[in-house]
Amino acid sequence: MPSTAGLLAARTPVIKRRLAMAPLTSQTPAATARPPVFYVRSLTKVYGMGAAEVHALAGVDLDLYAGELAVLLGPSGSGKTTLLNNLGGLDVPTAGELRYHDFDLTGAQEAELTRYRRDAVGFVFQFYNLIPSLTALENVALITEIARDPMPPEEALQMVNLGARLDHFPAQLSGGEQQRVAIARSLVNNPSFILADEPTGNLDTRTSEEIMRLFRSLQDRGITIVVVTHERDIAEWCGRTIMLRDGKLVGEDRHPQKVFAHESSNRA
Ligand code: ADP
Ligand code: MG
Repeated sequence: MPSTAGLLAARTPVIKRRLAMAPLTSQTPAATARPPVFYVRSLTKVYGMGAAEVHALAGVDLDLYAGELAVLLGPSGSGKTTLLNNLGGLDVPTAGELRYHDFDLTGAQEAELTRYRRDAVGFVFQFYNLIPSLTALENVALITEIARDPMPPEEALQMVNLGARLDHFPAQLSGGEQQRVAIARSLVNNPSFILADEPTGNLDTRTSEEIMRLFRSLQDRGITIVVVTHERDIAEWCGRTIMLRDGKLVGEDRHPQKVFAHESSNRA
């Protein structure tokens, strides 16, 4: 990822040294063999002050690896969105360590975080956040105007099987199709990874499966994806489930990804 590498060049030697000294605490021997994409230690986020203090993250240790489709699973208020926003540079932690490769997100300047969000991250949200007065193609094309290394917007929409809906406005698309436009928008800047916050939270079961199948096909293309959900069913479509409660990781499960019904007959 040349852009982030460039912006990080100055700090690389120091961080490499620190990385070399860092203890490897991953849970499986296979995982310790390769460096994580995200290195998270004792991550804390406190909102408010005094009596109003909320410990949204209360000391999170986590490694995320390239090519993973990982789920953050937890009840409402457990800190899922806070953790995802910290990974994506939308929010900064109160204390602890948080690195994306060599990039120290805890000490980053605002301009560095902006570049990181623009070049490295693809965001997907529960309510799609499409602009109603723009077509599917225009919603995706908008991002290419600020991206450093975008793909053609048509290509991103083809990746989500919406090549035939380019000129449709959001109101002319189903919920699942709108979310697929939003996923195309997250892909168009050729991000290193996608962060999806409750991407199926507004969709029925069948459409949710369609979205998870799409994420799996993107994983097959080598894209790292972190999905936040409070639904255990959604977690079953992914190979790794990380469980959160009260701002802490309370468990982790690596398991074979559930096979979709009609897997062979589906396009995505
Ligand atoms: P989840 O996504 O798992 O529902 P969140 O990360 O949104 O949880 O929230 C975790 C806790 O932090 C909650 O108690 C929430 O009310 C609180 N919180 C989140 N964002 C803020 C904020 N900007 N200001 C104050 N409290 C917040
Ligand atoms: Mg949330």
